[in-house]
Amino acid sequence: MNKPFVPQLVYFEPKALDYPLGKELKEKFEALGIEIRYTTSHNQIRNFPGDNDLQKYRIAKSILVVGIRKTLKFDTSKPSAEYAIPLATGCMGHCHYCYLQTTMGSKPYIRTYVNVEEIFEAADRYIEERAPEITRFEAACTSDIVGLDHLTHSLKKAIEHFGETELGRLRFVTKFHHVDHLLDAKHNGHTRFRFSINADYVIKNFEPGTSSLAQRIEAAGKVARAGYPLGFIVAPIYLHDGWQDGYYHMFERLDAELPQDVREDITFEFIQHRFTKAAKNVINKNYPKTKLKLDESVRRVKWGKYGISKYIYQKNEEDEMKEKLYSYMEKFFPNAKLEYFT
Ligand code: SF4
Repeated sequence: MNKPFVPQLVYFEPKALDYPLGKELKEKFEALGIEIRYTTSHNQIRNFPGDNDLQKYRIAKSILVVGIRKTLKFDTSKPSAEYAIPLATGCMGHCHYCYLQTTMGSKPYIRTYVNVEEIFEAADRYIEERAPEITRFEAACTSDIVGLDHLTHSLKKAIEHFGETELGRLRFVTKFHHVDHLLDAKHNGHTRFRFSINADYVIKNFEPGTSSLAQRIEAAGKVARAGYPLGFIVAPIYLHDGWQDGYYHMFERLDAELPQDVREDITFEFIQHRFTKAAKNVINKNYPKTKLKLDESVRRVKWGKYGISKYIYQKNEEDEMKEKLYSYMEKFFPNAKLEYFT
């Protein structure tokens, strides 16, 4: 994925054009010659173009709906943040294991919300409620917001908004390298910019439509040099032939890219691959040729929230994974903070 995302078709919902960002986006898409349609609600968008389900799914993921966020009650986002800040939903990427496949079901299109000021005001109210505690907001719970932000700059505005608050903090994670417009944002050290990274094999085989490992690492270097607190989510950690070398190489490349003076404040989060039965069905439907191994019989069951079981690696595999990744992290980034392994 070298080129930044451009939608194939854009819908506007009522009132979106009452907001400056709505108007700006309309002008931008018109200038790009992108087809624009109007709809009373995104729920009305049902018949996606395409000859079969697979094509329809692909095209749906390239549709952008510009609308208003009506619910200004934020979801919680434990443990990494107190709240999820809703700037967009959906994603243009095609990661085979993406959780959005199950959560978004038949509505895989991307939505962006133009009432950003109202969303920030709601965030400020949450900050006030918790004062004098710090309140953290996660911006990537329902989308990969960086992948879209070169078009909207909503994330950039959010970074600058939280830069001005005393007690608000922002965080997000991305698999995209289109970060240049965010480098001069006045973040004031209040935004933790995280990259999702993985062994080359995993990115190449299971993350089509996203940036390569080399591109993400180069972008992480830029972000670090722009003074952002930096983090990495290694997820999903997936066992494959040569996985030890693959993950070692990933750390080696990070080490080569990141300046020494930013290494005191780097965080790592490690998440092993897991799947549910529902996710397996939807992955096999959306990506029927995937090489992703989803065999319940070789995995261990972990009971999650709401009584839904997940299939994770066997204990001995998990232990080996932990041991290797911890040792690589300590070798290359002895002062980094490990947030969790799950
Ligand atoms: Fe899903 Fe993230 Fe991949 Fe987008 S980049 S498809 S949100 S896993």
